[in-house]
Amino acid sequence: MANIEVLNSRFSLYDKMYSHELREHSFADWPFRAECSCTPDKMAKAGFVHCPSENEPDVVCCFFCLIELEGWEPDDDPWTEHKKRSPNCGFLTMKKDFTELTVAEFFSMEKERLKIYLRKVSHKKMAYFRDEIDHILESLNSQLDSL
Ligand SMILES: [Zn+2]
Repeated sequence: MANIEVLNSRFSLYDKMYSHELREHSFADWPFRAECSCTPDKMAKAGFVHCPSENEPDVVCCFFCLIELEGWEPDDDPWTEHKKRSPNCGFLTMKKDFTELTVAEFFSMEKERLKIYLRKVSHKKMAYFRDEIDHILESLNSQLDSL
């Protein structure tokens, strides 16, 4: 799972990823090419950007809802997988091609993308604080026990 720094950088870089072409370019080293359901073209059509790491070479991320998927099989259909895991993604439910959006529609998409990002970051920060509080309580309890 992406940490806060990764989420930050993805959010700020992915404003360019409304472009199908740029998304497809990110799949230059993608292993699934011909005669399968998850070619770079289909991955890009489903909104995915390839963001591999050393340990996870097939991680992809939706530029819009920032969901991460990995463990791809040749028969996996990217659109279906995306829909299954993130049914309300604003990219999947977009009624027209990005190039046909009005400026107002584009800004409303960007507002939605920002909301998703902020929700994910605050979720991670809350989890971090919860852990911190648990540590403090644990240490206080053990100090009390030793009294
Ligand atoms: Zn998505």
